[in-house]
Amino acid sequence: MSRISERVGAITPSATLAVDARAKALKAAGEDVIVFAAGEPDFPSPAHVVEAAAAACRDARNHRYTPAAGLPELRAAVAAKTRRDSGLEVEASQVVVTNGGKHAIYTAFATLLDPGDEVLLPSPYWTTYPEPVALFGAKAVVIPTDAASGFKVSVDQLEAATTERTKVLVFVSPSNPSGAVYSPEQVAAIGRWAVERGIWVLTDEIYEHLTYDDHRSSSMPVLVPELADRCVVVNGVAKTYAMTGWRVGWMISPPDVSAAAAGLQSHATSNVANVSQRAALAAVSGSLDDVVHMREAFDRRRRRMFELLSALPGVTCLRPEGAFYAFPSFEGVLGRELAGRRVDSTLVLAEVFLEQAKVAVVPGEAFASPGYARLSFALGDDDLEEGMGRLAKLLAG
Ligand code: GLU
Repeated sequence: MSRISERVGAITPSATLAVDARAKALKAAGEDVIVFAAGEPDFPSPAHVVEAAAAACRDARNHRYTPAAGLPELRAAVAAKTRRDSGLEVEASQVVVTNGGKHAIYTAFATLLDPGDEVLLPSPYWTTYPEPVALFGAKAVVIPTDAASGFKVSVDQLEAATTERTKVLVFVSPSNPSGAVYSPEQVAAIGRWAVERGIWVLTDEIYEHLTYDDHRSSSMPVLVPELADRCVVVNGVAKTYAMTGWRVGWMISPPDVSAAAAGLQSHATSNVANVSQRAALAAVSGSLDDVVHMREAFDRRRRRMFELLSALPGVTCLRPEGAFYAFPSFEGVLGRELAGRRVDSTLVLAEVFLEQAKVAVVPGEAFASPGYARLSFALGDDDLEEGMGRLAKLLAG
């Protein structure tokens, strides 16, 4: 009998967090590392959010257990925020507050999947999605997309990958890692197809406010209301309000799914930390002014990073439409020798970048897209210039 269960033993630890942890450890050891790794805004959380948390610490109500599905005020505020921002009409009872968006994904899959079920997962995909799918005995069916389609999956591709065991489609727009934003027509077409096929959609809207140029995010169950009965919306405060460390996300689902998910959570985690929930309440019920300000900074960095990446020899890049990631192809660099090392994969390239230039990027292998790498532009402008300058120097050598 093995010491570690087969299911947990099969998990690949998060590559985004692994690269980030390695880079931060090097920094802590005094190395001058530029971190393009985890998607983490460099801004502090908004002042009124921090004040709400400080006040929450002093209020003894928050020193106690609260309902497993979330503070009633926060569930109501998330429902109101969802109506305000995406136009989706939901009841507070449909909201389950989780320990970040990642935990909402985990809880949603736990609640929906049985062994043998299949989950459609367009790639490149964020590294976490397939792991809970496998943990619950289901199978992720990866559907590759490429730069020619702007990394957007088509209904024909979805149809071709569907079997009688297909239960859920994972849909993410704006996308991590590609930065792609689907048009309203594309979102509606996929939603209508899912309704016709009776397939659930888990739609991850965590980057909803981070879109650029003329691109705007659209919520699938708003465009296709018939989908609402088979749809789970995942969201959270991390990216919009620069609150990655507070760990507050949520899932919004049909009432039977929310009730089942809350039951699971009552055994798994009890309530999310009340101080964090009070901070999230201040965030979602406040204005979007801070978000507008941060988005302007991300947009400026996006343009600059795109310009600098496009100038690198052997590198091609689509202009990111949303989120805060660039996802360039390094195919033209593979096969070269850099700093005495033959670079035959983006895994090796990422190691060379870190060792030789002290620059951390996440290799495309983490997102099922070898040949690419992901660079977050949520870091400061000076760091962005410095890191890109180091890559340019290394690749020119
Ligand atoms: N979602 C962010 C990223 O992709 C945070 C890290 C993580 O949780 O994987 O970098």
